[in-house]
Amino acid sequence: MASQASQKKVYPEPLGSARDELRRRVRVRIAPSPTGFAHVGTAYTALFNYAFARKNKGKFVLRLEDTDVKRQVKGAEQAIYDGLSWLGLGWDEGPDKGGKYGPYRQSERLDIYKKRVQKLIEKDLAYQDEGAVKFKSKFKSKEKVGWNDLIRGKIEFPASEVGDFVLLKSNGYPTYNFAVVIDDSLMKISHVIRAEEHISNTPRQIVLYKALGFDKPEFAHFPLLRNEDKSKISKRKNPVSLSWYKKQGYLPGALINFLCLLGWSHPEEKEIFDLKEFVEKFSLGRVRKAGPVFNLKKLDWMNGEYIRKTQNVKLKTQIFEFFSKKYSEEKIEEILPLVKDRIKTLKEFESLAGFFFKARKPKPGIFEKDYKKHIRALIKTLENTESWEGKNIDKILFGLVDKNGFHTGGFFMNLRVAITGSRFTPPINESIVILGREETISRLKSILSN
Ligand code: GLU
Repeated sequence: MASQASQKKVYPEPLGSARDELRRRVRVRIAPSPTGFAHVGTAYTALFNYAFARKNKGKFVLRLEDTDVKRQVKGAEQAIYDGLSWLGLGWDEGPDKGGKYGPYRQSERLDIYKKRVQKLIEKDLAYQDEGAVKFKSKFKSKEKVGWNDLIRGKIEFPASEVGDFVLLKSNGYPTYNFAVVIDDSLMKISHVIRAEEHISNTPRQIVLYKALGFDKPEFAHFPLLRNEDKSKISKRKNPVSLSWYKKQGYLPGALINFLCLLGWSHPEEKEIFDLKEFVEKFSLGRVRKAGPVFNLKKLDWMNGEYIRKTQNVKLKTQIFEFFSKKYSEEKIEEILPLVKDRIKTLKEFESLAGFFFKARKPKPGIFEKDYKKHIRALIKTLENTESWEGKNIDKILFGLVDKNGFHTGGFFMNLRVAITGSRFTPPINESIVILGREETISRLKSILSN
């Protein structure tokens, strides 16, 4: 009899090649349902499976659970491919890629499920009931069904809780619990790594492995992502669609890094690291059991960090693509040093630097006092300014303030507002250097002409 302590043992690390858990070749999978957009929870599951596969030189399989006919949504399959590809979580086998163990869409495997259910009926382990086929449970009263979860240790349920349950529905489609066991077995999945919400399904699945004569895989149930109030992450409280993150201008590397830290910690407590490093350092033993709270503020911070560490040449292209090539790459590159420290998402480039491309009319109320006086003096001086370069502009503006005894803060705020339409902008002197003499003067004049 194993002691209590050893039963609680989590995944051993570092992973040794001769460990029990790795006796089989590592093959893991995700099995999302194409019932809408690509969900951040799918990315999270994919991330752990991807890392486990890459770390152990195994295979990562993408299978689609598309047997819930009523919930199918057109384009949802593509959204899953796009979302995972955007994040760099590539898979080795799948509906789009093929592989030795296909087909990888459950809807194309209906014959397989039918044959297997037939065998269960022949062995008196299943029976027909109102057009459906049900599993016949035959447990003794004290029997238990359990497994050694690689994240949670030993988990056991009384077998009596399993009961009889539907395997094949009357429409010929399998239930989740039945299809998942057949597919994981036939696809030679070695480790089932999925969210804790499936713990309660696992006893039925284990019972089915045995009934079907398959070896059961290892199981690891990681914590669910949660809203602030600890409920399961939901779209009412958090954005959950991967495409939303893309549209907001989050960088895939930052989103990945953020997801890595939800429920897992870096052995050196590092906060910023890339997917490659995650794979190197990953082990199931470092996955926490408590549900990580999804905190968008942290993602914003992290995304800002990623923007800052991206080289300008690359960032310029990312911004160019993000805004569908609306702004010239040359201009973006010129502006970048002024805004790079101030933006948290690619999208914020437009809110902060949009004025370079299109004048925005300020509301008169946001000026400081004497703004017309300041602007008049500015126009006069700038019209006589030949050299439009940074140092000279600085000298001229400060000279102007001095000569007229203007209030420095008020003067520069008025200049800022007149040129940009906003009180929150990149450094104004450098901005007008980029904007050019003509455009600067014309914007100043347009303020007076109202
Ligand atoms: N379609 C299920 C889900 O996405 C798959 C569960 C499993 O991995 O077994 O939650």
